[in-house]
Amino acid sequence: PKEKKRKPDWMKRVIPGGENYTRIKSKLRDLNLHTVCEEAKCPNIGECWGGGEHGTATATIMLLGDTCTRGCRFCAVKTSRTPPPPDPNEPENVSKAIAEWGLDYVVLTSVDRDDLSDHGSAHFAETITKLKRRKPGMLVEALVGDFRGDPECVRRVATSGLDVFAHNIETVRDLQSTVRDRRANFEQSLSVLRLAKQYAPRGTLTKTSIMLGCGETPEQVEAAMRDVRAAGVDVMTFGQYMRPTKRHMPVSEYVTPEGFETWRKLGEDMGFRYVAAGPLVRSSYKAGEFYVKSMIE
Ligand code: SF4
Ligand code: SF4
Repeated sequence: PKEKKRKPDWMKRVIPGGENYTRIKSKLRDLNLHTVCEEAKCPNIGECWGGGEHGTATATIMLLGDTCTRGCRFCAVKTSRTPPPPDPNEPENVSKAIAEWGLDYVVLTSVDRDDLSDHGSAHFAETITKLKRRKPGMLVEALVGDFRGDPECVRRVATSGLDVFAHNIETVRDLQSTVRDRRANFEQSLSVLRLAKQYAPRGTLTKTSIMLGCGETPEQVEAAMRDVRAAGVDVMTFGQYMRPTKRHMPVSEYVTPEGFETWRKLGEDMGFRYVAAGPLVRSSYKAGEFYVKSMIE
């Protein structure tokens, strides 16, 4: 009798289309790139690849393989304590393919690699540096794990030439241990965001994301927002937790679009540079479009 709640209408996906979307989709076939957008069947692909009013096409690419060393209770990625070693040619190949692809904003993300001594941070940094050398005008966001809080790993990525350093707190402080892997926690994540702000060149944005529907209270959400804002975080996104399979933790509630709008407004009042909030929003949702808009305003 656990998950009685049916998915509300606002959770339905839109059929993608449009000129930019079609161009990006057809070019991808020759490049041997694996996008999270396609592999996770993301409902936002039309909006992100389409690029919106500023034509800023966004996509998300996964580095460092498909097997995670952690096991968060909301996540469907496959896990192993000993994933295959990373492909040493990936930074070169992926940066080349992305530069040729015709995107404006790319989010590079990965599974957590606790098996690697540097948690994969050098691999990230190399990919970003190579990509920026090939295509300096491209906007690059790295969405990284917590590196177990290792400042050296944070520094390596934060100084690699990126535009946005993102790390997700995922949920409120009190639910960390029930939602995320036991190696993750709120203070460690806050410290990663704080260090990234400190190490990155001026003008680099930091960003975090939270899922609603994990059992949090409004007071806890607001407290988390204040904590990340105090850590200097510039951008925050809010999305709905969706249960990937019956083995994953249940959804506590479906927050209405109006509910998300309330969080967006509060976030803007708190001084975040921009806030994306909505039932289908993920951390990378229209990231390029929001970034460019926030720079113009
Ligand atoms: Fe891709 Fe992220 Fe946009 Fe989904 S929200 S289409 S994963 S960039
Ligand atoms: Fe999934 Fe990331 Fe947790 Fe790994 S660390 S299980 S990829 S959410």
